[in-house]
Amino acid sequence: MKHNGLKGMEDILPPDIAVWQSVESSAREIFGRYGFQEIRVPILESTDIFIRGIGEATDIVEKEMYTFMDKGNRSVSMRPEGTAPVVRSYVEKNLHTMPSPQKYFYSGPMFRYERPQKGRFRQFYQIGAEAFGIAAASMDAELIIMLKNLLEAIGLSDLNFEINSIGCAACRPAYRSALLDFFGDRRSEYCPDCQRRYETNPLRILDCKVPQCGQLRQGAPTVAGYLCEDCRTHFDEVLAILNSFRIPHTLNPNLVRGLDYYTKTTFEVTSEHLGAQKAVAAGGRYDKLVEDFGGPATPAIGFAMGMERIVTLLKERSEIKQRAPKVFVATLGKEAELEGFRIVETLRAQGVWAEQSYGSASLKSQLRRADRLSSEFALIIGENELRSGKLQWKDLKKSEQGEVAAADVVSFFQSE
Ligand code: ATP
Ligand code: MG
Repeated sequence: MKHNGLKGMEDILPPDIAVWQSVESSAREIFGRYGFQEIRVPILESTDIFIRGIGEATDIVEKEMYTFMDKGNRSVSMRPEGTAPVVRSYVEKNLHTMPSPQKYFYSGPMFRYERPQKGRFRQFYQIGAEAFGIAAASMDAELIIMLKNLLEAIGLSDLNFEINSIGCAACRPAYRSALLDFFGDRRSEYCPDCQRRYETNPLRILDCKVPQCGQLRQGAPTVAGYLCEDCRTHFDEVLAILNSFRIPHTLNPNLVRGLDYYTKTTFEVTSEHLGAQKAVAAGGRYDKLVEDFGGPATPAIGFAMGMERIVTLLKERSEIKQRAPKVFVATLGKEAELEGFRIVETLRAQGVWAEQSYGSASLKSQLRRADRLSSEFALIIGENELRSGKLQWKDLKKSEQGEVAAADVVSFFQSE
């Protein structure tokens, strides 16, 4: 019987995996220079942390979570994002007692029960970063600059950075009520989701993708006019630093983000080459979340980058090279086969990818296999070669050949 993977859950196979690994290693390297260390949190967490963190009236918690009762009758959820688990860990493991700032990054799968389509999966991967303990605008700017540096390092320098401030607990209520006044007039004309959002989370109406809602909200009050002095100064400082580093960015007053925990700065990175699902990374400040999770008041900011969309962009830009062995050792006869195996192991021990012939086959069919693997060289060992200690090599790309002493094989292929 044939089995199929679940809808929206993809296998990531070679050669694509090489692109994934190279993004992951660039992230590790660049984040390291900024002092971000890796944190690995579980995939399964208590459902409360997501309800508490992301917010009850959000798409993620309302409709997208993989939630079930475990065998101990506890409600658990597959993580739909990384921030809530990292904050849970920060508070639970008392990481706030460590010197500030504490900077972490994570990389791994997230799960959301969404309709699968281009750029949208039910299991998808994120690389994210979170910085705790600093309220200053230089932290917001550092995080954005770090993300920009990563994207440039992997070859994505034409992405758009959008930025906004959504205020804080002091100024958001006034903005919220201004929005309620504005939306209230024509409330019944908005989509059913927005009518619900009107009650639960009116800021999210600004972010609705339904064209009708986009038109209705033309002329809605923008948050800029409502920011308190602290939020205004903070936002101006962030923008001033980005300007002084010449980081191009667009102000987007509708960038409210779908999660409840954000305060002040929010940002999103988008590409024109992805169609409808164009956001490749998004983040923002969440100065109240650590406190909400029972920790001490701790300002924090983070972002998450969607790997599938990044990999799609990279694959469009350059062809992926299939990895190939350096040497295929073809042998004739039992004795040569064992000697071949020994040589292959020696090469591998010295860092060279070598393949062996696995049992007896004609030389022709062994060389055909070497060719199909795109091996660069074949090394041939038969009875004569065993006796003389001189092995025949063939360069399968250049159609050259020659001899090498058995004792020199490693240095020969290491230098080739
Ligand atoms: P979107 O507007 O695309 O639904 P989002 O606001 O739900 O994004 P975030 O929670 O901010 O996304 O996650 C950060 C990034 O993770 C997104 O910018 C995107 O690149 C990626 N991402 C989110 N959901 C998915 C998904 N279902 N499949 C693939 N990538 C995703
Ligand atoms: Mg979403």
